[in-house]
Amino acid sequence: MEFSTATSLPSFPDDITIGQFMLEPHRFPLTPVRPDNVPWLVEDASGRGLRTEQVRQRTANLANALHTKYNIGEGDVVCIFSPNHVDYPISIWAVHTLGGIVTPANPSYTAEELVHQLEISQARLIIAYSEFLPIAFIAAQKANIPLNRVVVIPSTNDAAVANTITLDELVSSGATTPRTFSECRLKPGEAKTKVAFLSFSSGTTGKPKAVAIPHYSIISNVVQMSVHWNVIGSSTGVPSAMTIGDVCLGVLPFFHIYGLIVTVHFTLFCGMTLVVVPKFSFLDYLKSIVRHKVTHLYVVPPQVVLLCKHPAVSDYDMKKHVKFVLSGAAPLSGELVQQVTKVFPNAHVGQGYGLTETATTVSMFPPNQKIGTIGSSGVLIPGIIARVRKADGSLANEGEQGELVVRGPSMALGYFNNEQATKETFIDGWVHTGDEVIIKNGEVFVVDRLKEIMKVRGFQVAPAELEGHLLLHPAVADVCVVGIPDEYSGELPLAYVVVDSKLLPTIAKDPSAGVKLKQEIAKHVSDAKIQYKWLKGGVEFIDAIPKNPSGKILRRILRDEARKLRKPN
Ligand code: AMP
Repeated sequence: MEFSTATSLPSFPDDITIGQFMLEPHRFPLTPVRPDNVPWLVEDASGRGLRTEQVRQRTANLANALHTKYNIGEGDVVCIFSPNHVDYPISIWAVHTLGGIVTPANPSYTAEELVHQLEISQARLIIAYSEFLPIAFIAAQKANIPLNRVVVIPSTNDAAVANTITLDELVSSGATTPRTFSECRLKPGEAKTKVAFLSFSSGTTGKPKAVAIPHYSIISNVVQMSVHWNVIGSSTGVPSAMTIGDVCLGVLPFFHIYGLIVTVHFTLFCGMTLVVVPKFSFLDYLKSIVRHKVTHLYVVPPQVVLLCKHPAVSDYDMKKHVKFVLSGAAPLSGELVQQVTKVFPNAHVGQGYGLTETATTVSMFPPNQKIGTIGSSGVLIPGIIARVRKADGSLANEGEQGELVVRGPSMALGYFNNEQATKETFIDGWVHTGDEVIIKNGEVFVVDRLKEIMKVRGFQVAPAELEGHLLLHPAVADVCVVGIPDEYSGELPLAYVVVDSKLLPTIAKDPSAGVKLKQEIAKHVSDAKIQYKWLKGGVEFIDAIPKNPSGKILRRILRDEARKLRKPN
């Protein structure tokens, strides 16, 4: 059977860019009207706020400078390599104003990881935070991007960085030079195919790939969530989950689809103020919640663990103003949902579920839910049609388990320049999620993951990426990486390694040589990869990696093995 909610969507435009949708409210008459005194974005540390006219002006001026100085235009890809910053959304909309595409990158990436993203996305310019400039420069050079095409967002402590141009300088020059660009205008229906973002995800298998997300997908997902939370078009009488002037803490990374769409676009569309936090530090997080009287918290499970268990939480009075706590990106145990409701007794608490490929939210808890069914990832949002495909290929009924397959107006177009991977996941308009679910009473329960990826602190870790890298180590003859459960991180990567046969006699004679080799293998990963990909689950030696007759790794066998081996006490 097919599952969907009865609520219908209003019609919304398919001939505008995301920036036009956000900054020109007349384009969509249901847009909540934000009074002038309600800022869009507020810098957490300084309290500096940007209001409507400033956001519009800054966006237009930056667009002018990006066009005049770098000739950014139709289809050009710009990489943003920065932690959260008030200029992050402005940079996005400026690029979109010119018809360009944004590829948001994790600012903690190593040069190698950034090069992968720059090359796959064919980026032509990088907007980089000053702290991460050395990596940006190395990666730019390797990806053949001239160094004068790296624009700097200076951190508050920095003076200008020699021989570079800052985003502020660009905005100023864009304001004083005559306008050279013509704003991107879309024909009816064009927003459905015009790519806005190349966001990275490994999908069901293989290395990270660029997911091509058109403007319409994002507009649609924002509208879908707004209808679901009764911000617009409600006929149910249930109060809206957001009110103009509510405050959301923007601490989830904007480069990840959850931060990019839910935190930035959904929040700002609803007329809320987004307090922008560049870096997550738990005590500062608590202080910011109180200082800005935050009403909406979007979190990932490790943050919920801290909110439930950290002794400092009781020093902060967050009860009065926090109204909504939404957890997503990875599974959250029912136990933690219950515990966190004790921390926020006046809040509605629950989960959302989505993928980069579905850009973004598929299910979310309803606005009148105080505490949901244990383990539920919410109900399908309007516009989503879901099927649950059982192992034998037939469609599941209510309460039966299988792979979630979804369709709807927010789906991405596919993987950029990767027809094969696109064909495997985007089939006849349906996105195959690789997640095993049960749908019951309209609620989605994610029970397992069929795809290879692990989720470490909400971030994807692709076994194929780590395995490819581990095979470069001379002692590694074969390898399989699996995730083991971890209370804080959700999962941790563990590598099963078949050691090169030449080394086996040495290890057999001297066990300390084996220990040393395991450390060396773990270091081989930590030297080259961002921290959440490190082999914190450990390294285990094994005689052979189990494979099927055609050579495909039987990953589940080792995953189950690893879970027994690292069973929590
Ligand atoms: P990403 O594209 O990085 O957002 O990763 C999407 C994947 O994260 C999904 O396919 C799920 O495996 C996982 N995920 C997201 N939200 C949830 C949730 N609420 N519960 C369980 N898994 C989730």
